[in-house]
Amino acid sequence: MSTAIINIGDSHNGNQAGTPIVGDAIIANDGIIAWIGPSSDVHPDEHDIVIDARGITAVPGFIDSHFHSTFGDYTPRQQTVGFIESYLHGGTTRTISASEVHVPGRPRDVIGVKALAIAAERSFRDYRPGGVTVHAGSVVLEPGLTAEDFRELREAGVWLAKAGFGAFASPRDYVPVVQAARQAGLVVMFHSGGGSIPGSQEKISVDVLLEANPNVAGHINGGPTALSAEENSRIVSDGTDIALQLVQAGNLRSAIHIAELALKADAFPRVMIATDTPTGTGVIPLGMLRSMAELVSLGPLTPRQAIASSTGNVADVYGLSAGRLAVGAPADILLLDAPLGSTQPDALTALEFGDIPAVAAAITQGELRFTKSRNTPPAKRPVKARINRVLQQ
Ligand SMILES: [Zn+2]
Repeated sequence: MSTAIINIGDSHNGNQAGTPIVGDAIIANDGIIAWIGPSSDVHPDEHDIVIDARGITAVPGFIDSHFHSTFGDYTPRQQTVGFIESYLHGGTTRTISASEVHVPGRPRDVIGVKALAIAAERSFRDYRPGGVTVHAGSVVLEPGLTAEDFRELREAGVWLAKAGFGAFASPRDYVPVVQAARQAGLVVMFHSGGGSIPGSQEKISVDVLLEANPNVAGHINGGPTALSAEENSRIVSDGTDIALQLVQAGNLRSAIHIAELALKADAFPRVMIATDTPTGTGVIPLGMLRSMAELVSLGPLTPRQAIASSTGNVADVYGLSAGRLAVGAPADILLLDAPLGSTQPDALTALEFGDIPAVAAAITQGELRFTKSRNTPPAKRPVKARINRVLQQ
């Protein structure tokens, strides 16, 4: 399966600076970006699909690092079928589970949380709803989990852990368990701020976060209840390398404040945009793009920083090869443009203005998934695709 994209206009390779790719064409073979160069070197007949980008912007697919998948393409939280595929129409090509905490009647004992994480991870290994890669199976940290349990989980393929929903007597009791999980090689996200769902415990303060030192401070702008301004300063300045996850379903004022602090402290690589959905806030297929537009138009991020925070920064924190337009990276690619009717000329200026860009095409694993998002407005310049072969799905 070979897919060529030609006549790309602006682009963002996923790195912190948002450097454009060298060339205006990309070829993906068998799901991987195989070549980047000039459109004049592409021979259309050699590829199964040729996409004419007509001068619009190419960026890596967005990685949502706070996503509540359960099993299948169904969320019990908002009783919605097909929600993952719907997020692809908002540019999310990859999701990272923030734990399967929405599974009704979820187990809370040690063997139960292990089994749930293993089952979830395996369920999505080859199952990609709509073409979205779902990194599932985030073990919910509960009292009693030991270093041996984490070793066993890691061996079974589980590499994500979530702190914040366990039956610990006090938030401080998480500290050794978070550390044991990290030592075993799991990437740990710690809930921050006030409780999010009925029955979840007292506030997770910045003192606990700093002591536990997780990889990711989950929804550091509130999930949905935020920390104080003083705590925001401390997690940015004292939080060494803890990633700062700014979510759509949080407190926008705090997200802007933390982004400002992070830029001032030279901590931009720690900034990640995510949705924290589906949750009580809803299913928000355009959540990544909404946060990007908000943090650019009302906050301090440049459009290129907003894209990096949704792609390469996330990949770096989680150790993924995705989130880049580079040879050898997974071919998860978006073509973005200003939405039809916008006062702005292209996707990046639309973000600056606060408009949601149009997702004009999504390619995941090298396969064209659509040429017109059903969730964003249409693109000013719709892309054209030429299909040379009957596709075997
Ligand atoms: Zn969450």
